[in-house]
Amino acid sequence: MAKVSINLATGSIQKEELIVGIDLGTTNSLVAFINPDKNPQVINDTGKGVLVPSIVHFGQTGEVTVGNEAKNYLITDPQNTIFSVKRLLGRSYKDIENYKDFFSYKVIDDDSESLVKINVGGKFYTPIELSGLILKELKARAEHALKTPVNRAVITVPAYFNDSQRQATRDAGKLAGLDVLRIVNEPTAASLAYGIGLNPEETKTIAVYDLGGGTFDVSILQIQNGIFEVLSTNGDTFLGGDDFDRAIVDYWIEQNRLNKADIIANNELAQQLRLKAEEAKKAFAHQSLVNEKIGDVWCTLDRSTFEQLILPKVQQTITACENALKDAKLTIDQIDEVVMVGGSTRTALVKKMVADFFKRPVHDEVNPDEVVALGAAIQADILAGNRKDILLLDVTPLSLGIETMGGLMDVIIPRNSKIPTKAGRQYTTSKDGQVNMKIAVYQGERDLIKENRKLAEFELKGIPSMPAGFPKVDINFLLNADGILKIQAVELRSGVKQEVEVKPTYGITDDQVEQMLMDSITHAKDDVNQRMLIEARTEGEQMVYTVERFVQKNGSHLSPDELAATNNYIESLKATLANGEKDAILKKIDEVNEFTRPFAERLMDHAISHAMKGKSIE
Ligand code: ADP
Ligand code: MG
Repeated sequence: MAKVSINLATGSIQKEELIVGIDLGTTNSLVAFINPDKNPQVINDTGKGVLVPSIVHFGQTGEVTVGNEAKNYLITDPQNTIFSVKRLLGRSYKDIENYKDFFSYKVIDDDSESLVKINVGGKFYTPIELSGLILKELKARAEHALKTPVNRAVITVPAYFNDSQRQATRDAGKLAGLDVLRIVNEPTAASLAYGIGLNPEETKTIAVYDLGGGTFDVSILQIQNGIFEVLSTNGDTFLGGDDFDRAIVDYWIEQNRLNKADIIANNELAQQLRLKAEEAKKAFAHQSLVNEKIGDVWCTLDRSTFEQLILPKVQQTITACENALKDAKLTIDQIDEVVMVGGSTRTALVKKMVADFFKRPVHDEVNPDEVVALGAAIQADILAGNRKDILLLDVTPLSLGIETMGGLMDVIIPRNSKIPTKAGRQYTTSKDGQVNMKIAVYQGERDLIKENRKLAEFELKGIPSMPAGFPKVDINFLLNADGILKIQAVELRSGVKQEVEVKPTYGITDDQVEQMLMDSITHAKDDVNQRMLIEARTEGEQMVYTVERFVQKNGSHLSPDELAATNNYIESLKATLANGEKDAILKKIDEVNEFTRPFAERLMDHAISHAMKGKSIE
């Protein structure tokens, strides 16, 4: 779907201000933008580097530091230094209680169902506030580097994030003063950075392998018509580069015949060893042996030993890839591309094992710890309307609705609704004893369905036989973040239910969307008049139908005069309906209504009055 803002004066697409892309990571966060040469570029605020460690420190006097400076406090002031807050976003205590020991700061449970809080120096912070502080730092860096206010952003999240985690991410953005235009899946952003999915014509199935600091996930995506669909995800939220570092430290402890408990007790040495291990791991990119001394501890490691140490961990990620494929019901040869994401994929063994598993070279040309942010910047550029050819998913460009009596479009989700979204309305039958209801789903802005685009049609069968107007049919539209529309119809009295799914963006281009919008503007006045006429006519026809049924069933309760008069009114209404003049029809309807209302009341039969209410579907 596309976000299309049309300038009503010129009919052209409107350009919008700069929107940045943000990778809010568990270990590191960063921000990127599209530079004047139209290329995505990460923001490197002078002297501070590109990666901002996702760490927040609270000082004694309430001062807050974020990033590299905060990282130093992990050793000196662990209780007041918050890391890995992304693990807590949108989570309840119940969600995390099994791994609460992982955090060196206090994670609070006041009510196990509600969202967690963090206690720092007697003050309570929510993960949303803490993430907000990281985002604020990123915003400030971007503004400093670009010398322009930054108010709008696209933020990425793992594909497996649920609604609550996505909402929490949005809220964190809001707290940082950012208008979050879109939450994008990290694998989607990564593929965009490789240009995969930018051509709306191409259909591809790709695997995105993301090994970060503390988390691992692999996602299988299907890209079709510019829509990214997550077929499956797999992984381990406690597996990442940190495990490689720990494996190295454990090895050194063993080699130096030290006692692990002693090292852990000596927090400073433990942290120094950990940092040295990380350094060694990174050094294997260009050297094959590390040999240094920290205090009395010899830190010696060669590449092949390193690879033996991490092999079981890497093997675990390969098993996850196997499972992801299985869940997506795909085989290796059906994967067109493999994209590497996350700092830990720089390790040669990781690349090799992933390439061997998928039997193809992997994409590693783009910096793996920048690739998600770069893709988010591309997504932001698309949202800004700068890449017209690409379809987007943040708002529905066209209204979605169903056909009601007389061929009218009844809108359920209006155009420009932010997605995901859901909405519903209640409908009823138009005929007595109607047991099936046809539900036709359309997309478009015109009042008549014949001018709009049909997406789906199905029948709700097995409605118990009732007088017209009695069945209550709830029709719900659920448009998810991937742009898939789920339509559900339920007859409430009987519980009969029917569901279908469609993708409103299939087979429609941006230009066609634009054309449909322009048409609706050009024809707005005609459309309104037509709609009013059809509504009047439908109401009139319903009136004829129900009154005739009423007379048939209950005529014996009316006097001959009343019967004759009723007949006259109905004949006169029918004649007006044939003429097709809206005001005249409405006038006749009023007259019939006025005359027949006492009958219905008299007979305690709600059929008439009931049927008049609400919209009905044939
Ligand atoms: P996240 O997505 O979890 O925020 P990143 O993608 O930034 O994390 O990855 C951070 C991890 O990448 C850390 O464990 C870090 O040690 C590791 N890493 C960074 N550079 C290298 C390198 N050259 N070789 C191996 N691992 C690296
Ligand atoms: Mg990441």
